Amino acid sequence: MPPTPDVDELTPPERTLMGPGPSDVHPRVLKAMSTPLVGHLDPSFIEIMNEVQELLRYTFRTDNQWTIPVSGTGSASMEAAIANLVEPGDTVLVPTNGYFGGRMQSMAERAGGDVVHVDAPWGEPLDSTDVADAFDEHQPDIFGFVHAETSTGVKQPDVPELTDIAHDHDAYVVADSVTSLGGVELRVDDWDIDVAYSGPQKCLSCPPGASPLTLNDRAMDKVLGRETECRSWYLDLSLLEGYWGEERAYHHTAPITNVYALREALRLVAEEGIEERWDRHLHVAGALKAGLEGMGMEMNAPDEYWLPSLNAVRVPDGADDGEVISYLLENYDLEIAGGLGDLAGDIFRIGCMGYSARPKNVTYLLSALGEALDANGADVTPDAGMDAMADQLSD
Ligand SMILES: *Cc1c(COP(=O)(O)O)cnc(C)c1O
Repeated sequence: MPPTPDVDELTPPERTLMGPGPSDVHPRVLKAMSTPLVGHLDPSFIEIMNEVQELLRYTFRTDNQWTIPVSGTGSASMEAAIANLVEPGDTVLVPTNGYFGGRMQSMAERAGGDVVHVDAPWGEPLDSTDVADAFDEHQPDIFGFVHAETSTGVKQPDVPELTDIAHDHDAYVVADSVTSLGGVELRVDDWDIDVAYSGPQKCLSCPPGASPLTLNDRAMDKVLGRETECRSWYLDLSLLEGYWGEERAYHHTAPITNVYALREALRLVAEEGIEERWDRHLHVAGALKAGLEGMGMEMNAPDEYWLPSLNAVRVPDGADDGEVISYLLENYDLEIAGGLGDLAGDIFRIGCMGYSARPKNVTYLLSALGEALDANGADVTPDAGMDAMADQLSD
C-alpha cells in the first residue's frame, strides 16, 4: 500500500498576472466562486444560465440566440466552433500568421476538412487582397481568422472587409476572439461574423473553465443540417441544444462554479460598459506601450495593428528573455511570457487584460521590468520609460 500522502494546505504564491493569460481575477469573481453549489438543472441555475447568455450577447455585441459558455477552456469553444461547422470534405481557409491559426488548422483537419491557407508571416495581419485571392483560388466553405493573435500581439484590422469577401463567396466566417472579447473592440453582428469563440481568462479576467461561443442562425442551420454527426460527442451543438436551448435536459454536468464566475465577470463588463472597457484597455495599454518605447524598446507590431490586450515587445540587445522573465517572477511575483514558435527568444509578451489593465499594474510592471533589464545588461533607460508612461496615464 502506498503511504498516506502528507501534503500541505494549498498556499499558491500571490502573483500579478501580466502574461498572455490567465489575467488577474477580480475579487468579486473569486467571491462568486465560493458561493454554494446548486444542481445543473436546478430552477435557480436555469435562471443563471439565461442571465449568462444575455450578458454574453451584450459582450459579443450580438443578438444571436445561440450564445453559450462551452464547458472547458478557450480551446474547447474553438473546437466546438470548428468541429460542428466543418463537415468532411469542406474546404477550410485558415491563416498562417500565428500560433493559433495552426491550432485552427489541426482542428479543421481532425473534423475532416480540407485545409488551405491564406499566407502571412508571423507578426503581420492578413491582407484583404491576399484573402480575396485565396478565395478565388480555393473557393473555401469556411474561413477562420484570429482577431487578436496572442502569439504575436497583432490585431487583425478591417474585419468587415474580410467578412464581406467571405460572404460574397457564400462562405462562413469563424473568428477567434479569445484575446479580444471584453478588451478590444469586437462587434459580432455589425461585422457580420457567423461564429465567434472566446475564453474567459483573458480580457474577462475570470478563471478558465467556461468559454464563450456564439453562432448566428445561418451557421446554426449548417450545424443542424449536417449529413454526418459531429465527431465530438461532448461538443456536439445539436446535442448541447437540448441543455442550452428550450428543453434544458441533461447532456453533461455544467461546471457550475465556472458559470457563476463567468456571470460575475460579465456583470463587471456590463457595469463598466463595453465601450468604456475597450477605451480603458486602449488607455492603460497605450501608457504601457509609451513606457516601453520611452525606455528604448521596440514593439513587435506597428501601431496600425498593435493589440492593446497583448503587447509583444522585442527583447533588447544584450538581454536574455528567459532570465528577465525569471527575475520578474522571483523578485516581483510578476508573470510575463516569452515568444512562441517563430518568435521564440525574440519578444516578450505582456498582457494588459481585464482586471490587469489598471494603472497600478502597468506602473508596477514597467518599473520592475526596467530594473530586470538593467540587471540583465540591456541598454535601456527605465526613468525615461516611467516618465513617458506617467504622461500618458495622466491624459
Ligand atoms: C489562449 C488562446 C486560445 C486557447 O485558449 P485556452 O484557454 O488556452 O484553451 C485560443 N486562441 C487564442 C488567440 C488564445 O489567445
